[in-house]
Amino acid sequence: MSETTQVVVVGGGYAGVMAANRLSGRDDVAVTLVNAQPAFVERIRLHQRVAGSHDAVVDYREVLGSTVRLEVATVERIDATGRRLVLAGGRTLAYDYLVYAVGSASAVPTVPGAAEHAYPLASLEEADRLAPELAAAGPGARVTVVGAGPSGIETASELAEQGRTVTLVAGDLAGPYLHPKGRLAVLDELGRLGVTVVQGPGALVTAVTADAVQLADGRDMPSDVTIWTAGFAVPDLAARSGLSTDAAGRLLTDETLTSVDDERIVAAGDAAAPSDLPYRMSCQAAGQLGGAAADTVLARLAGAAPAPAAVGFLGQCLSLGRGAGLFQFANRGDVPVRAFLGGRLGARAGAWLKELVCRSTVKQLTWEARRPGVLRYPAFVGDPRRREVLRRSTAEPHDVVAAA
Ligand SMILES: Cc1cc2nc3c(=O)[nH]c(=O)nc-3n(C[C@H](O)[C@H](O)[C@H](O)COP(=O)(O)OP(=O)(O)OC[C@H]3O[C@@H](n4cnc5c(N)ncnc54)[C@H](O)[C@@H]3O)c2cc1C
Repeated sequence: MSETTQVVVVGGGYAGVMAANRLSGRDDVAVTLVNAQPAFVERIRLHQRVAGSHDAVVDYREVLGSTVRLEVATVERIDATGRRLVLAGGRTLAYDYLVYAVGSASAVPTVPGAAEHAYPLASLEEADRLAPELAAAGPGARVTVVGAGPSGIETASELAEQGRTVTLVAGDLAGPYLHPKGRLAVLDELGRLGVTVVQGPGALVTAVTADAVQLADGRDMPSDVTIWTAGFAVPDLAARSGLSTDAAGRLLTDETLTSVDDERIVAAGDAAAPSDLPYRMSCQAAGQLGGAAADTVLARLAGAAPAPAAVGFLGQCLSLGRGAGLFQFANRGDVPVRAFLGGRLGARAGAWLKELVCRSTVKQLTWEARRPGVLRYPAFVGDPRRREVLRRSTAEPHDVVAAA
C-alpha cells in the first residue's frame, strides 16, 4: 500500500457523501467520490421537483469536504482482485479501500404496459421526464399514482394540492409501514386534498395503457398520466462484478459493513445488505450507514477491529403537500408505534417537521464535511440486541423486497 491510502467511494448520495466526508479527516487518506451526476440529488424531494416546489439538487461544493476529490463518472465494474474500478469509457481507478454506496433506483415494472406508459419517479432523470409530461397534459389531466409507500403518498399529495385530479392506487393497503392510527390520519388528509385512494384486494394494477390503468378486480380507470412508485431496486454493479449479493442485488456484508468476499470493500445505504438483513431503504439509514462504513475503514487503518454498525430509526416522516405532514414514530427496531405527529390538529406541525428533516439531512452532510467525525448518533439510536435476535433467526427466509 502506498503511504497515502486511496479510498474511493462509489455513489454520492446520502450514504456515500457521509462516508467520504468522515474519511476526509485524515491527512494520510486521499478520498475520491465517484458519482454519475455532477450535483448531489436530494432524492427525498424528487416529488417536489416534479411539482415545482423545490429543485432537489445541491451543489457538491456545499455538502462535500473540501479535500474530497469528485469524479463525475459511472463505474462499470469493480475489479476486486486488482483493487481497481473500471469506469465507463474504459479508464480505471485504483483503490486501497472501496466504499460501495450506489443507492437504489426504480424497480422495472413487470406489469404489462407499465414500462411503456407509466412514469417512474426514483431518480433525477425520471423526475425530469415526468415534469414536462404533466405540464403538457394540462391542469385538468387525470393523474394516477401507482404505489402508496411514502413516495407515492407524497407525490399524490403534492400534485393534488396543486388542484390536479389524482387517484392513488395502493394495492392491498395505503401506507403499509404506518401504524393503523397514523394511516387513518394520512387517509384523512389525502381525502381533504381530494386524492381518491383505491386500496384493497382488487386494487392491484394488472395493466397500463396510454390512457388507462386496469385493476385485478376488472376496473378500468382512465388515466392521462400514470406515475409508477411501486418499488425500488438496486443497481447490479456488485453482482455484475462477481461480488456476493442478497437476492435483491445488495452487496452482502457482515455487521461491520465489510463485504463477505473482500475486507477492502465496505458498503452503505440502500445497496448494502448487512448480515443479509438489510435496513429499510431510507436516507435515515443511509446517512448512519455511511458514517459507520467510514468508521470501519478508519478502524482498519488504525489496526483496530471495526465495530458493528448501530443504525436506529425514529420513524417515518411524510409530507402531504406543502401545508401538511405526518411524523409516524417507531421504536428503535423500526416498528411503528401508536404515536404520531399530524392529523387534523398537527398537520401543519407535521409539515414543518418534514421540512426540517429534509433540510437537516443536507445540513448533517455539511457538518460532517466541515468537521469529519462530528456526527455521532446518540447511544439510544439502534437496537443491537434486536439485531442479534434477527440475525440468529435468519435460518427463516425473510422479505428482501423494498418499499418505495
Ligand atoms: C420521491 C422519493 C421520496 C423519498 N422520501 C424519503 C423520505 O421521506 N425519507 C427517507 O428516509 N427516504 C426517502 N426516500 C428514499 C431515499 O431517497 C433513499 O433511501 C436514499 O436516497 C438512499 O441513499 P443512498 O445514499 O443509499 O443512495 P442514493 O441517494 O440513491 O445515491 C446513490 C448515488 O450513487 C450514484 N450511482 C449509482 N450507481 C453508480 C455507478 N455505477 N457509478 C457512479 N455512481 C453511481 C447515483 O447516481 C446516486 O447519486 C425517498 C425516495 C424517493 C425517490
